[in-house]
Amino acid sequence: MVIWRRYLPDGSLALFGIAIAIGPVIVGGELIAGRPVDAWPVVIAAGATVVLAIARLRRMMRLLESQTERLSQLADTDYVTGLANRRHLVDRLDKLLAVAQPEPTGFLLVGLARFSEINETLGTPTADAILHAVGVRLGELTGDGALVARMGSDTFGVLDPSITTGEEASRAAIHIREALERPLELPDLSVSVEARVGSLVLPEDGAEPAVALLRADVALSVAKGRSGHTASYGVDLEPGDMLAPVLIGELSQAIRAGLLVAYYQPQIEIATGRVYGVEALARWEHPRHGLLGPDAFIPAAEQAGLIGSLLQHILDSALLQCSRWRSEGLDLTVAVNLSARNLLDPGLVDDVWSALQHHGLPPGSLELEITEGTAMVDPRRSIHVLGALAQLGVKLSIDDYGTGHSSLAYLQQLPVNRLKIDRSFVTEMTVDAASAAIVRSTIELARVLQFDVVAEGVEDDATLVMLRDMDCYAAQGFVLGRPVAPPRLPDLIRRIEERLTGVLGTPTLSPARPGE
Ligand code: C2E
Ligand code: MG
Ligand code: MG
Repeated sequence: MVIWRRYLPDGSLALFGIAIAIGPVIVGGELIAGRPVDAWPVVIAAGATVVLAIARLRRMMRLLESQTERLSQLADTDYVTGLANRRHLVDRLDKLLAVAQPEPTGFLLVGLARFSEINETLGTPTADAILHAVGVRLGELTGDGALVARMGSDTFGVLDPSITTGEEASRAAIHIREALERPLELPDLSVSVEARVGSLVLPEDGAEPAVALLRADVALSVAKGRSGHTASYGVDLEPGDMLAPVLIGELSQAIRAGLLVAYYQPQIEIATGRVYGVEALARWEHPRHGLLGPDAFIPAAEQAGLIGSLLQHILDSALLQCSRWRSEGLDLTVAVNLSARNLLDPGLVDDVWSALQHHGLPPGSLELEITEGTAMVDPRRSIHVLGALAQLGVKLSIDDYGTGHSSLAYLQQLPVNRLKIDRSFVTEMTVDAASAAIVRSTIELARVLQFDVVAEGVEDDATLVMLRDMDCYAAQGFVLGRPVAPPRLPDLIRRIEERLTGVLGTPTLSPARPGE
């Protein structure tokens, strides 16, 4: 039976073949027999052929249509949750915003907190089941006509035409967050997830799909940093939260106009009380919003692909400033922060080298700070690029150490000179024994592994004295000085060095430092 099927055409094809063959067979037979050809059977056979051909074509068309529909359904569906995928939601956004006067529609972006941890701890099948259950719950929460989509690994989007005002969108965001905190029942376990929700109303908060998506991302990022874990785009966002993407457009112009400046925060060698260097911290002197800190524009600059020009600008300003201070007799090193994208930029090493040459500075006068997370984006590439930077003679440090998940074994492979302990441990160390223990053990381990340790976020004298007793190499923080504009730095350094003699006692000789 199977063999029969394999070698013989299916029923309708056979019929089709017979219908085509009938005419020629009859005509041929009559010709061979020497009889006059009777045209009627031929006409009937040809007619039957046409009918069969049309039927066959229609059947093929229907098959094609249903296959195309199935394919586009697959292309628009997220295979884990069975929900619409990002493509589908973007299509819907396109259609919604394409008309002259779009109907107001709520757009919510829901992000699950620590989902990668869930994935690692419970395994992919369970994590997938959780995602599926989240999708189901979101479907239950949203009104008729709403579209729920999975936008990325741990992010869901909801387009809901029953939400028409910002207030309704905020209420819906809170409702969703609370509902996802109630346990999700899976076959063999019950879990609850923490959600962050950003909300906006279209077209008011975004009349174009790309802008709407970007602003939804902004609202979600802000929600992540808020205690209530929700944020609505627009009135709700302070300039300090993050700059409106509308202002991203101003950033490259601001860089060109010199409105992006570096402020400098001193770093001291604890044993001697000497200011040996400064960290350059980006500020935007915005004509309407005042002085903006990096949290307000670095994420936007990263998204808009401007982080490369921002680094170029800060690097250039910092090295120019450093060479000016050196010519005035202030022998300082300057530290500049790198984003993950900077580290992935193939031109980074050449750019750093040219900037140093341009300002006539020795490579050791520059320190580049990367976070553990930055180095982990592409570990192999990071090792390669950091190796090349270290070969130039540039100093490298791990910023915000302790907040990432990288192992010291990995960090040891990097040609890094310093660990900057994150301020969350340092500010608490005089009142919290666990933080003090973390700082102490980091300093001890770092000594064995030949890293210098810089404590960030030192806010009082008691912390400074405790760090000195732990033999910490260096400190940075508000007790020494806040970041200042360049003209104020020489005076700040003089005051710090005078004051520290009182706090830390007579300067002692600096202990021999690893790597020197
Ligand atoms: P970071 O590199 O860890 O920089 C130190 C941040 O801690 C600075 O905040 C500084 O003002 C703050 N800080 C210093 N001492 C204290 C203290 O005693 N207590 C407290 N509570 N805070 C203190 P800022 O300037 O807001 O910078 C925040 C982050 O923005 C920086 O963290 C850095 O990661 C990033 N950043 C700054 N400038 C740039 C830049 O030019 N490029 C890139 N990619 N990132 C930058
Ligand atoms: Mg830093
Ligand atoms: Mg830091």
